[in-house]
Amino acid sequence: MTKKTLVLATHNEHKSEEIKAIIGDLIEIKTLSDLNFNEEIPENGLTLQANALQKAKYIHNILKQNCFADDTGLEVTALHGDPGVFSARYAGEPSNPKNNIRKLLHEMKGITDRTAQFRTVISVIYDEKTYFFEGSVTGRITTEPRGEHGFGYDSVFIPDGYEETFAELSAEEKNKISHRSRALAKLRTFLLEHTR
Ligand code: IMP
Repeated sequence: MTKKTLVLATHNEHKSEEIKAIIGDLIEIKTLSDLNFNEEIPENGLTLQANALQKAKYIHNILKQNCFADDTGLEVTALHGDPGVFSARYAGEPSNPKNNIRKLLHEMKGITDRTAQFRTVISVIYDEKTYFFEGSVTGRITTEPRGEHGFGYDSVFIPDGYEETFAELSAEEKNKISHRSRALAKLRTFLLEHTR
């Protein structure tokens, strides 16, 4: 039987590598650069689920192949779920992680409830059906950035059960518990059942 293929609807190479490492043994992964697809993918939904689906559908409509897309947000309890779906552009465009963190810490000045979660929603269009997989990790927001690893809001997020921020943990340690790896683990289970 020929191996099925899945197109990753992302231009983020770091993400593609992480995804390949987790499900690449089950399915042939094609990146947008493999397919010479350089167009920007529209992303203007109001929820993580809507954004993930929009990206997967957009690529599926053009390429007519099984597709994967994901969307992640940092949801802070005291800020009623913000920055959430707007995490990348919290301090405006173009996306700037340092400014986003500065704004977040400013908004949280004096707030004692520092609980938050990272949440990832994956949308997969597989054999013309749509599936969603979700993963999250709860934790708390620090009062100042700590650590050099990772990206985005990693330096201000301490996962529950740890004293270090994500940026102080190794990539390996972070990937064991991260929102994205938890969502990808669910996708892996799905693929194990659907690619046999
Ligand atoms: P995306 O949907 O994966 O592009 O993520 C949207 C935004 O959420 C990113 O620009 C980052 O600001 C933030 N983000 C996503 N994943 C992580 C993570 O693992 N650590 C820290 N920030 C993240």
